[in-house]
Amino acid sequence: MSAKCPYTFANRLDYHEGNVSPAMAQEIANHISSGCNECARSLVWMRSVLPAMHESAMMGQLSVSQRALKRAFAIMPPKVVRENPIKRAVSVARLLMDNRSNGMAFAGARDLSGAPLRAMYQTDELDIDMMQEPASGGKWHLFGEAMSQDGEDVFSPDSVVLISSDSHQIGAEVDDAEFSFPPIQSGTYSLKIAWDDHDVVVEDLVVGA
Ligand SMILES: [Zn+2]
Repeated sequence: MSAKCPYTFANRLDYHEGNVSPAMAQEIANHISSGCNECARSLVWMRSVLPAMHESAMMGQLSVSQRALKRAFAIMPPKVVRENPIKRAVSVARLLMDNRSNGMAFAGARDLSGAPLRAMYQTDELDIDMMQEPASGGKWHLFGEAMSQDGEDVFSPDSVVLISSDSHQIGAEVDDAEFSFPPIQSGTYSLKIAWDDHDVVVEDLVVGA
């Protein structure tokens, strides 16, 4: 392979989802069988990750946008494909409540001086509780924990990474069940929480008031 792959991630996604014309499908299939590694890697990733994401998306009535998928692809790059690829389960957490929004649970908490901004996200199994407090220089402290939905068990993650909109990654310090980030700029981030066999992704985590 010498030429750069002519297809975008979105093209490959359409192909994977069957949203291309038969002629286009044939063209892409020929291209892949000619040995494009870039396409092959994307498709292996889509086959292993998308079913779980679609399932989570349906349960949470989220729409998983192409933009979200592209970001997920950046967060969870395809590993080298072996004969028996280990499938990791990926759940997309949905927003349950955010005390910056009016009329939701915890509304009014902002009026308590010093009360942190708080947002809760949920997967089928876990609640993710995220809190923010102003730090110096206009930045924000962000910290949180993952717990069972009855609130009785906390689950200490192996790693927690925040990904900025320009794909910059910031690792959290994990102290038992609580994870905390160094002061960060306000903005919209993706959060990936990893356990040994399971990842939870929070899309569109808004930092800052
Ligand atoms: Zn290609």
